[in-house]
Amino acid sequence: MIIFHNPQHHLHDGRQEMFRGRLVPCHENPSRLDYVLNELQRRPVGPLRQPGEPDLAPLHRVHSAPYLDFLARAWDDWVALNPANAELDILPSIWPVRGFRHEAPSTNFTARLGRFSFDSGSPITAGTWTAALAGARCAIDAALAVSGPAPESRAAMALTRPPGHHAGPDFFGGYCFINNAAVAAQTLRDAGARRVAVLDIDYHHGNGTQTIFYERGDVLTVSVHGDPRTEYPFYLGYADETGEGEGRGCNLNLPLPTGSDFATWRAALQQGLDAIARFGAEALVVSLGVDTFEGDPISQFKLASADYLQVGATLAGAGLPTVFVMEGGYAVAEVGINVVNVLQGFAG
Ligand SMILES: [Zn+2]
Repeated sequence: MIIFHNPQHHLHDGRQEMFRGRLVPCHENPSRLDYVLNELQRRPVGPLRQPGEPDLAPLHRVHSAPYLDFLARAWDDWVALNPANAELDILPSIWPVRGFRHEAPSTNFTARLGRFSFDSGSPITAGTWTAALAGARCAIDAALAVSGPAPESRAAMALTRPPGHHAGPDFFGGYCFINNAAVAAQTLRDAGARRVAVLDIDYHHGNGTQTIFYERGDVLTVSVHGDPRTEYPFYLGYADETGEGEGRGCNLNLPLPTGSDFATWRAALQQGLDAIARFGAEALVVSLGVDTFEGDPISQFKLASADYLQVGATLAGAGLPTVFVMEGGYAVAEVGINVVNVLQGFAG
């Protein structure tokens, strides 16, 4: 297991997010990754590396050019509006819902911000783009490490934040800006895997990943998550979303009720792995969120720390070259224990 960790993740450090009617300190903060790195120092699972400077072509295949351009320039545009903005995070507050023109040519910054986002929980800060781009490099390098006729490793991880699975082709939200799992899957495809599966085991539905691959037949997307009838992101993640066009039958959603325990969750995981085997995937990307943990401050499943060892062992049973990509799991010390338990369980 080679771990590519993002040395610039701390540059994305939002001051506050809109949460249940108030501005509160960001749940998605740098301490999350520090917990994992500290636990990896205590219980190493393989070499820790920083990403190199890989070809970013896979990034440009899963996100639109106008979106990436917007993200790259957003902070400078924001501060150009008013130098005092440098002391404030960027949070969207208006969106083009049904009936509005999504392609309206407004050049207003707030309008463009709404066009490229879907919630107000995901601040853009001075270092967001730098941190997110370094995360994409981790995802590409991790995918390359398990690719080709003589892969360097059977498994690798992109240990990064901000997370990615809520980010779609041209929108950010859910603390996510670049969809690292999609970037990894695209890298695996470009490196020769004919069929790739993305298995999302974060508590929340991987709406961005689903949308990116929804009409593609070469990438199967599977997500086990809290039922969107009650859980974020609410507007996607239902069982009847199965893909369209060439992607028909290539999206599997396994929503579970609030409060589900490990036995229920594990049965859904096995259902997802069975679908991945039937699909004939040659490589696997795991969107690894540990907000399924019973102590997570914003989620409602009941997995215990020891359960994550079994999760890792079960994933290893798929027998595929595997890229883990860090997603959610919020600011509790067990984030580190739970992530490393998955990796240790996988290693056997
Ligand atoms: Zn989550």
